[in-house]
Amino acid sequence: MEGTMRAMQLVAPGKFELKEVPIPKCGPDQVLIKVIYAGVCGSDFGAYTSGYMIDKFPRIIGHESCGEVVEIGENMVGPLAGMNVHVGSKVFGTTIGLGVY
Ligand SMILES: [Zn+2]
Repeated sequence: MEGTMRAMQLVAPGKFELKEVPIPKCGPDQVLIKVIYAGVCGSDFGAYTSGYMIDKFPRIIGHESCGEVVEIGENMVGPLAGMNVHVGSKVFGTTIGLGVY
């Protein structure tokens, strides 16, 4: 999927900026999810207040979210396309290969 998306990025502790960023690429073992709602949890709050768990800024936080699978990688199996899914603590942001937008 080509194009850009709006993303609220944490650019430093205590500072968010709304940016237009490229939509993540979907790799062969990944799915791309269009986020509908994103929650803010305790670790997100810590990231905002002190940079907790953030190794590099800017960072899109809100890893506890739900959305729709809009693209599936070639190695993925099952009826994933179009599913509504919840992204929880076992799928942490984009660090394990799940493109979230
Ligand atoms: Zn969390």
